[in-house]
Amino acid sequence: MSDSASSQPHKAPLSVACPQCRTPVAWSAASEFRPFCSKRCQLLDLGAWADESHSIAGEPAMDETSIDEMVARMERDMNQQ
Ligand SMILES: [Zn+2]
Repeated sequence: MSDSASSQPHKAPLSVACPQCRTPVAWSAASEFRPFCSKRCQLLDLGAWADESHSIAGEPAMDETSIDEMVARMERDMNQQ
């Protein structure tokens, strides 16, 4: 008898800190405003950028690649602590 004890490795959901308020945000489809915790923080950040004239007209704020890079960097930072 093969004892297939399904000891699935517990996969902790990846989370990132909201750039605005540092609230942990689950990196999932449910987190609509990731990397921000809420629309409010997202707008605050956009407002901050506009304030410093960093806004790029007609360009998405972030593409998938830079998000992946950011997450990778955050994971590295966390592992270093
Ligand atoms: Zn936030």
